[in-house]
Amino acid sequence: MATQPIIDRKLDKDDLILITGAGGFIGGALARYFHELGYTRIRGVDRKPLPMWYQCVPGVECLSMDLSEKENAIRAVEGAVEVYNLAADMGGMGFIERFRIECLRSILINTHLIEAAWRAGVQRYFFSSSACAYNTNLQKDPEVRALRESDAYPAMAERGYGWEKLISEMFCEEYWAERGLETHIARFHNIYGPNGTWFGGREKAPAAMCRKVIEAKDTGNHEIEIWGDGTQTRSFCFIEDCVFGIDRIMHSETLIAIPINLGSSELISINDLVSMVEEIGGMRLKRRYDPDAPRGVAGRNSDNTFIQSVLHWQPATPLRIGMEKTYAWIEQQYRDRKAGKRVVQE
Ligand code: NAD
Repeated sequence: MATQPIIDRKLDKDDLILITGAGGFIGGALARYFHELGYTRIRGVDRKPLPMWYQCVPGVECLSMDLSEKENAIRAVEGAVEVYNLAADMGGMGFIERFRIECLRSILINTHLIEAAWRAGVQRYFFSSSACAYNTNLQKDPEVRALRESDAYPAMAERGYGWEKLISEMFCEEYWAERGLETHIARFHNIYGPNGTWFGGREKAPAAMCRKVIEAKDTGNHEIEIWGDGTQTRSFCFIEDCVFGIDRIMHSETLIAIPINLGSSELISINDLVSMVEEIGGMRLKRRYDPDAPRGVAGRNSDNTFIQSVLHWQPATPLRIGMEKTYAWIEQQYRDRKAGKRVVQE
């Protein structure tokens, strides 16, 4: 593995780091990442009760609070030097196309948290935006042109979820411009990997495909359902690249209040993703297409010109490598669930 660049964080090891959404996929991975780097005061907040957190990292303070309530946001940021806002009501296409109100209501989290962070004198504030903030008119063709940061405007974001992200980005931009709070904004493109949602309705395509192949092997029903016609294209970014990218973006002086893509530029169709998972699982399945299922935009990829030029880095884990790790983890989860053990569950 290539050596990672040294990051000048201007952060003491005992400075308090707040991570919201820490009971979820990316927030949990980020808490673990900073803990393993030796940061001693990490506070994780999530509205889920503690037994439902995907990861509880030893030594990390874990608080179960609903951050759409102003008082809880104020309590959460107390004493924090850095805030990473990864809390949102979200899921894969199946969730964000059905529950637009829930997605929109995440605006309350960022609205209260950024105000509380500014009032508390927080030094840096990170917001997890999404590729769903991009203009959907540019994503009607599977042979998509990769999305550049400037493609969010003129705005025609994904209904519900994408608009919430766009407005929250604007909050971050204006808190910097008008009030001097240093904000950093990454637009994530389909993050996947171990310790993420893999069943229950909020899971994304990579986890769903792994689960379906594992299920087919286990049940003997050698058929797989694919949403849409399978020609829709996406890029998928491995969780380790994502948390490292968050750290780089948060600590870049060039990237203050400037949204930037955090995603892989390795484009793949859903059909090819299924073939990849079939190869990993060692089994071919009969494909059944559901044209009425949510399929999202026709094509979406991350243009990494900007991140490469600023950070001289971009997510580089090959999809095949990341998917092998994800498959192995979901296979273990599947076995554990069958044996009645507790697993990652929404
Ligand atoms: P996740 O659902 O695993 O984690 C989000 C967490 O936020 C959940 O644990 C949830 O309980 C918590 N939460 C929701 N509402 C809350 C509230 N009112 N108060 C406190 N906690 C609350 O999702 P994730 O994949 O880890 O996503 C993290 C962030 O990254 C989100 O902002 C998401 O929109 C963004 N994002 C993720 C992806 C992806 O592919 N995973 C892509 C684009 C953007």
